[in-house]
Amino acid sequence: MSQFRIAIVGAGPAGYFAAQALQNSETEDRTFAIDMIERLPTPWGLVRSGVAPDHPKIKTVSKVFEKIATAPNFRLFANVELGSDISMSDLTSRYDAVIVATGSSLGRKLGIPGEELRGSLSAADFVPWYNGHPDFANLEVPLDCDTAVVIGAGNVAMDVARMLALDPHELDTTDTADHAIAALKNSSIRRVILCARRGAEHAAFTSPELRELPKLEHTNVLMSKTEVESAILRAGDEPEKDVKNNLGAMELITQMEPTSHERTLEFEFLLAPLEIHGTDRVEEIVLGVNRVEDGKIVATGQTRTIKCGLVISAIGYSAESIDGIPFSSGKVNNNEGRVPDSNVYVVGWAKRGPSGVIGTNKSDAAEVIKLLVEDLPAAPKENGDVSDLVNQHVVITQSDWEKINAAEVAAGEPLGKPRVKAVFREDLLKHAGYLS
Ligand code: NAP
Repeated sequence: MSQFRIAIVGAGPAGYFAAQALQNSETEDRTFAIDMIERLPTPWGLVRSGVAPDHPKIKTVSKVFEKIATAPNFRLFANVELGSDISMSDLTSRYDAVIVATGSSLGRKLGIPGEELRGSLSAADFVPWYNGHPDFANLEVPLDCDTAVVIGAGNVAMDVARMLALDPHELDTTDTADHAIAALKNSSIRRVILCARRGAEHAAFTSPELRELPKLEHTNVLMSKTEVESAILRAGDEPEKDVKNNLGAMELITQMEPTSHERTLEFEFLLAPLEIHGTDRVEEIVLGVNRVEDGKIVATGQTRTIKCGLVISAIGYSAESIDGIPFSSGKVNNNEGRVPDSNVYVVGWAKRGPSGVIGTNKSDAAEVIKLLVEDLPAAPKENGDVSDLVNQHVVITQSDWEKINAAEVAAGEPLGKPRVKAVFREDLLKHAGYLS
């Protein structure tokens, strides 16, 4: 019987599904000892710091993660950072295989003048801010303006726009970070405009997200009937299923009766960001008006200016590079998950780019693990693990994490919330019993 040691870097969905695929590949002759390394004191990645707090059902996948984590031969080394606490070569020399599951955490830039002004943010910062990620707790989010513009037509743009446009009291029973609920309750924003550069038929939203918009209790959702009707015509008689579902959901939105709510969420299509203007902060955004010609986007040469104090771009992500790993185009260089000339593999967004829903990572990881198993040497390395490298460091183990989790859930119970997130590292370590 051989036991191979595998290190997984990153405790998000891709990392857990890779661990699960390894556990499912065990045989009578071959088992895996899995060490999962995570830089934050908390696991679950985007399930904790990405998924919108008003989407609690999506977060129930964490039950699957906990089952994986409590199986034999699985260890969590959280609060351990690759690059500062340990190096890639520490891992590749000790483990039979290393799986990179570090995701894509950097927001893509618009690359337009004025993007650096105060009040211009990336969703890659704003989303972890409202979700209580320790690194973003002190982000400055100026909400003292009437209008916010969100750039992008994907589900992240939709989450961001919805979070800004809903009545923050609707967040009282969610696990939104306390600092974000307080800031949103204080917010002057009453008009949120989501701008897509292409037509409604090209939007990257998924239809369940569109279908929930009419259920917002305190927000008027506005979408142009003319644009949706034009998009339906442009999409033709046999649109792809996703396009058909999206346009169907959009049609329902256009049929909604306007209400007297002071909060509005407006969808604008065929507007591409050109410039952000302002002296000390964002004051307006200039967008180029596009039209669709033979299925392609063409600039009309006209522009539209929207006065606003906040611009949030949600136009995709790229992966943060790791020393010792080849990167290009915002991803780890890989061949179906194999990193060339190494015992390193990559899964999830770091492998394929920022696409797909959480479940996509399950099949993606299973395919990569199949290759990893094929490549395994005849016998394990037996060259140690990371324990000796991190013994001077506070490592959050699975049982420490269970203490943090239990403390957060217990704090939420009397308030009717799934949990109250500890945001600062010190508070997380306190929950785990390391600091008094
Ligand atoms: P996405 O789905 O790829 O959408 C990115 C959007 O940004 C697209 O509409 C794109 O428009 C637009 N864009 C890109 N560059 C632009 C530019 N320079 N100017 C203006 N617009 C630009 O990415 P995402 O929203 O970040 O989501 C990432 C993945 O996570 C997706 O697979 C998404 O479905 C998933 N996700 C799922 C959920 C959920 O299930 N509830 C929630 C959040 C995220 P073009 O199409 O014109 O390029």
